[in-house]
Amino acid sequence: MQDPQCAKCQPKYCYHGKKDEKILPEFCPMKNFKDLIRSTAEEYKTQELHDFFIQAAVTEKEAYDEKYAREKGKTFPIRPRIREVAEFAKKIGAGKLGIAFCIGLADEAERATEILENHGLKICSAVCSCGAIDKTELGILPEQKIRDPENFESACNPLLQAKIFNTIKTDFNIIIGLCIGHDMLFTKYSKAPVTTLIVKDRFSGHNPVISLYSRYYKDIV
Ligand code: SF4
Repeated sequence: MQDPQCAKCQPKYCYHGKKDEKILPEFCPMKNFKDLIRSTAEEYKTQELHDFFIQAAVTEKEAYDEKYAREKGKTFPIRPRIREVAEFAKKIGAGKLGIAFCIGLADEAERATEILENHGLKICSAVCSCGAIDKTELGILPEQKIRDPENFESACNPLLQAKIFNTIKTDFNIIIGLCIGHDMLFTKYSKAPVTTLIVKDRFSGHNPVISLYSRYYKDIV
């Protein structure tokens, strides 16, 4: 059995509803994970997942101009992601959302909170430096600090961010700019589902896709 390599499959047959094994590449999961595909399809119908999954699809549909799609047969996006977060939260009846943010994106976290609250949502937030624990107290060496090794440098604390939200029982959590690794730990420890509003990319103004589009990045990626 080959590992899946969908990113290398040019025709993306599945997207067009084509399942004929004769045309599928050897690395195609539709060849190698047939039982899993069947059992997973059933899972979406369980009570726990059904409404969440359906509302995700409806939110996806509403991100496009319906009239434009009807008249021109093409999609035209009409909503930024933060609006999608708000609309999805309302659709699933979320009572409380948690924002786990990086201190470096404190302004963005404040603005996101205001926008989501204006949609009538209850928003809680926890910054990465919550706990005010020096990095060395968590086993990070002084020379591994970013600035002066002798001075206090707050450790990022993604486990604490997740556990705070677990305690107050948020319906889902939103990452704003957590560092690579810290975002994974937060996601791993969060009991509620996690979505990312802003992925941290210090170099590109938090727009990592630019390094895939621009040739000027070719020597540094
Ligand atoms: S599932 Fe199969 S057909 Fe679809 S992109 Fe992956 S390899 Fe290609």
